This record gives sequence, C-alpha cells and structure tokens, in this order.
Amino acid sequence: MPVKQKMYIIHTGKNGNRLLKGQFLKFLDTISKVKGVGPQREKVFNILGIYSLRDMLYYFPRRHLDRTNFTPINKLKKGELVNVIGNVQTYGQKSIRKGKMFQVLVSDGAGLLTLNWFNGVRFIKSLFKVGDRIVIHGKVEWYNGFTITHPEFETILEEEDPIKTNNIVPIYPMTKELKAARIEQRILRNIIKEILNNIEDVDDFMPLKILKTNNLIGLEKALALIHFSSSLYELRQAKNRLKFDEHFLLQLLLALKKQSIRNSVTKRLIDIGPYFRPIAQTLDFELTNAQKNVIQEIHLDMKRDFPMNRLIQGDVGSGKTIVAVLISVLSVGNGVQVAIMAPTEILARQHYLSFREQLDKVNIACSLLIGKMKKKDRDPILGGLKKGKIPIVIGTHALIQDDILFKKLGLIIIDEQHRFGVDQRSALFAKGNNPHSISMTATPIPRTLAITYHGDMDISIIDELPKNRTPIITKVVKPNRMDRVYKFIRSEVDKGRQCIIVYPLVEQSEKLDLAAAVEAHSELSSIQFSKLNVGLIHGKMKSEKKDTIIKEFECNRINILVSTTVIEVGIDIPNATVMLVEHAERFGLTQLHQLRGRVGRSSKKSYCILVSRNFSDISKKRLSIMEETHDGFIIADEDLRLRGPGEFFGLRQSGFLKYKIANMVTDGKIIKSARKEAFQLIDNDNQLIDKKNYFLKQVFVDQFAEFLENINLS
Ligand code: ADP
Ligand code: MG
Repeated sequence: MPVKQKMYIIHTGKNGNRLLKGQFLKFLDTISKVKGVGPQREKVFNILGIYSLRDMLYYFPRRHLDRTNFTPINKLKKGELVNVIGNVQTYGQKSIRKGKMFQVLVSDGAGLLTLNWFNGVRFIKSLFKVGDRIVIHGKVEWYNGFTITHPEFETILEEEDPIKTNNIVPIYPMTKELKAARIEQRILRNIIKEILNNIEDVDDFMPLKILKTNNLIGLEKALALIHFSSSLYELRQAKNRLKFDEHFLLQLLLALKKQSIRNSVTKRLIDIGPYFRPIAQTLDFELTNAQKNVIQEIHLDMKRDFPMNRLIQGDVGSGKTIVAVLISVLSVGNGVQVAIMAPTEILARQHYLSFREQLDKVNIACSLLIGKMKKKDRDPILGGLKKGKIPIVIGTHALIQDDILFKKLGLIIIDEQHRFGVDQRSALFAKGNNPHSISMTATPIPRTLAITYHGDMDISIIDELPKNRTPIITKVVKPNRMDRVYKFIRSEVDKGRQCIIVYPLVEQSEKLDLAAAVEAHSELSSIQFSKLNVGLIHGKMKSEKKDTIIKEFECNRINILVSTTVIEVGIDIPNATVMLVEHAERFGLTQLHQLRGRVGRSSKKSYCILVSRNFSDISKKRLSIMEETHDGFIIADEDLRLRGPGEFFGLRQSGFLKYKIANMVTDGKIIKSARKEAFQLIDNDNQLIDKKNYFLKQVFVDQFAEFLENINLS
C-alpha cells in the first residue's frame, strides 16, 4: 500500500538539500538534509512514511535497554521473554537432519546461554566475532542448558553499553525495508543523534498552560529523551509528554465532533405523549432502576434543541429493547418517525416482534424492512415512510438504501452499534434532519476506554440485570468429556428444554468453518441425537430458510440448533437452557459472553458449556474467566488486556486509533487529563483561531485531515 504523502511544508533552501556550515536543521526539513542520509536511504525512509525530520524523530524506539532490564543468565526462567547482555564465547555450525544449524555461546560472567538458528545460517554466521558484546531479546527455552532460538540480537559498542555507560539505549522497530538496505540500529541511532544535535526551533504546539498544569516537559526535550535518556525518570517524562500529545489530539477531534453536533438544530421532543404510559404501565415486569434512569437521561437529552448522541451500554439481557420501545413511542408521541437498525435479519425480526407486541397496545403502525424483499412488499413500506404513515420502521442496513426516504425522521436507534461502520451510521443519520440518535451495545467497556473510543457520545450504562435471572452455570470442558456432555443435553431436552450448539466462523477460514458446522450437524443428528430434532442455521442460508428455522426453534419443534455465530447477536429464546460452544478458544471472551447471553433468559436454570480444543495455558486461563464471572465489564476488560484493542474492536473501526506510543488500555490517568484539557480548549476556542493555538491547529489538521468532514474549522 502506498504511504500517503503528508502535507508538510518542505523547506529545501536555495542550496539544494545539503546543509551549509553554520546552518541549522529545521523540524520540517526533508531527511535528505541530514548527514548520513543519501538518496537511497531517503527512499527507504519514505517507504516507511518518513519524509521530514519531524517524521524521523517520531520514529520511536520499540523498546529501550537500560541496566535494570537485563536478566542475568543464571536467573533465567524457561518460557520468559528476556533481555540478556553478554559476550560471544564461541560459535559454530552443526549439521542436523534437516540441514544446518548455527549456534552462538554467550556468557555474562554469571552463566552461559546458547543461541540457535535453523535458517539463514550463511548470513547469520557473518555477524559474530569472538568477544563481541551483544544484547539479546527472546524467549528462554531449556535444552541441556538455557537456549534462545532465533533471538533478536545486536552487537553493541562500548559507548553504547547500557551497563557501562549507565545510559538507556533505544531499540528501533526493524522493518524488512530497513534490513534490506542495511540500515541497522546503530545507523538509525546516528541519524537521529545527528538530527537532535543540529535541530533548532522545534515549535511546541501544546499551549504552555496545559504543559504547566499537567507537569509536562517541552516537545523538543521529549523528542530528545524518548530516544536518548540517561535515566528511567527522564524516559518516563518523555513518554508521558508524547502519550499525552496523542490522547490530547484525539480528544480534540472528539470534542470538535461533539461540538459540531451541538451546533446543529433539531426538533425538541418534550412531551411524554399519549403512548408512553399505556405501554410502560402494562409491562409484565417492573423496569429496573437502571432502565428507568436511562430512559430519564435520554428524555432530558431529547428536550434540547441539538441532537442527542448517546450510547447505551448494557450487558446482554439487561433489557435494552424495552428501553428502545419506550423511547420510540415517546418520540412518535412528539410527531416524528423512528428508525431502528440491527446488524442481522434474525435480530431485526425479533426486534420487530418485540416492538409489535407493545405497539399493538396503542395502535402504532410499524414495519420491518430487510434486504431482498419483494417489490410488492417493499413499495408500500417506502410509500408509508415517505408520507409519514409508518411512524416506526425496524430493519437491517437495508434501511440506508438510497430510495428510502422519511417524512420526518426524528430518532434513529442503532442496535449492536459496533457491528456497523461509521459510514453506515451516518448514512442513516442523514435520512433525517439532524435526528436524535441512540446507539446500543452489549459490549461494556471500561470507562477510560469508552471516552476514547466513544468519546464524541454521551454514555448511559444499564448496570443492573432484571431480578428474575438465575446465574448461568459455565463449564470449560475437554473433548474427551463429550459423551457426558451429550448425555446431559439429552437429559435437558427430555425436560422439554432446548439447546444451541455454536461453531466458530471467521472470515479468513469461512469455507472450512462452514463445512465443519454442516458436518457436525449431520453427525449429531444421525448419531448422538438421532432421536431428536436437530436443526442447522448459518449465515449463508436464504433468509426465508433462516426465518423458518428460527420459528421452528422458537416453538420448540427443533430441540437442538446447530449454528454458526449468526446466533450471537440478540436472539431471545427463553426456553433454550444449554449453550454449547465448540472450539471456544477461537472466540473472544466478549463474544463468548454474548453467546452465553442467549441462554438464561428466563428463571429456568441454564448452562453454558465451552469446549476447548486447545490446551495452552493462556487459552485455559482465558476461558476460565468465563467460569468465574458474569460481569460483562470484567470480561471485556480482561479480553481487551489479553487481545489488545485492535483485535478487540476489529480493525475496521480503529481508523483514528493508530497510536505510536499511547495505549488506550493502560494510560487511563493520562487519557482523563488529556480529555479534560481538550474539551476545555474547544469550549474556549472552538475554531482553533486563537494565536496561542496556531501550531496546535496545524498539527491537528495535518493528522486528522480525513476525519474533519462536518467539522467547521475556518
Ligand atoms: P438485551 O439488553 O440483551 O437486548 P433484551 O432487551 O433482549 O436484552 O431483554 C432480555 C429479556 O429480558 C427480554 O425477554 C425482556 O422482555 C426481558 N426484560 C427486559 N427488562 C426486564 C425487566 N425489567 N424485568 C424482567 N425482564 C425484563
Ligand atoms: Mg439486544
């Protein structure tokens, strides 16, 4: 993928690229100005997106070596990831069954460590001399002594030796381009040193007051110390400042987005209207306090004359749907239309039924709109929406098709909002005149993360489950217990209960996964459950077929439903009491939590059986969390910690979260202060026109150019 040329103003100067005597480097000069960077190296850097000196200084070390983070060889432990420093004692190559291997024996005075290579022997061989001082990074193994196979390593010079100099040595990310061009760690260090020694006037874009209140060091200093520092304290100062910058700039974007919404005008939905109470007072359960609070919060929002943009976080089963129903009828009572978008047809249809059950009490018309509808069914809905005859429509992303028009769309509700892209959400939004908008998610995420990830929304949390729930019993089992598991399922079915068996299906291996589910269905229905009715449902089926199957399952004509993850979102079958997940180790914990939420939706005792076909320690530990807790927050937290934000959120949505140094999971404190400062700044200077914010605006626009649609910065 070609790297996008950044919009830097590039000073080339009169004398071409080279620096004259007595001249200094400027922050935005091209890197070819630096001693040691010729056209060839420049090209390599350009491939990495490094054009200016600024870019180069922002090529942060991946880690640092300091005297405190080396492990003495006699203190190594099997399985640990370590840094070791020592001298080369001997090296040599050996013939093995599959070719050659190369070994280096390293000593640090305390012990001996063997390094192994099984490929690239010819090249590796040329890199060592007896007596070389090397630093090594890798995972410790034990084969007749400590060994590390294919370690990262580097020979270091005396003046770089962190043990002798007490300095901290940066280790940069090594890409294949750098490697191919032989731009090694030492060369990178020299180039960066050269820049730092000759640069002048690094403009600090952060307003001075913010630096002071938050105890942050200046940018020039931070950029120097992140590369070369002589104490961990200095390094931490540098990291703090640079992390703050990244969070701050993102929060600035979020503040501006929020602001831009506040600047638009919408219809205020003040009245309770004629429909709310008749429904709220005839429910066959009492709303939880959390549900009541959220409804109140939302109604307060809707009384304002700028559109609400609110996220409802509520664990599976917390009762988000009825909240959506009540808010919808409240809106209809104020004379506007409501559109509810769900990620799958199954879910849309279930919502439709839940809505109808309530709406019929007050005679509000409501339609279901999905893809692939017949023209004769679809046309009347389109007409009704356009004329305003249909006040509530529920559907899939079919709702955002171009020909769907509303007379007066005043509220949009997006269920399982993380399943939709930003574009899809804004396409629905655009069908109204600044409608109020509610997003719902069953993935509760920690607060500091929410203010990064959902920072332009207000957040409501339903943190209370309805009282009639009995906790689901969760068990992780190994495949050799399957006979007992199947027996247990048969006994549940004998009691009239139902069971869902889920198989993983991921995009990368879709065909194989699907085949596995289909095969399992035929085996289960002919062998283990030959006397029962075993259904199969998956995403590749025609929607009518899926509908039929869900219906049959709903009325208990199917005892056991084999499914791929289509079942994950939202479906509600109170009589299903056993959820069996195959290859549970392939799922994220939040996903498992969602799946588990498909059962236990009544007062009957329910079970979740996770079949693990991978016995690694990590996998065991991960799954055991499911046995220990039902708290979606804890599970999401753990999942995030174990998989990292990229995996957790899916890459699609993390567009603006490409941090260089910040970490949205662990930087909680910094995030909070960065957010506070950013929102305050936008409160005072919402166009960034203040002189004090001049450089800030430049840096900000440069970084977020592609996200500034709808944001008005003159
Ligand atoms: P989710 O938040 O996962 O979307 P749902 O809205 O589907 O949860 O609600 C799950 C089930 O709980 C539904 O059958 C719903 O009717 C029921 N329910 C909702 N609120 C309550 C409540 N306050 N008391 C008892 N049951 C409730
Ligand atoms: Mg739901």
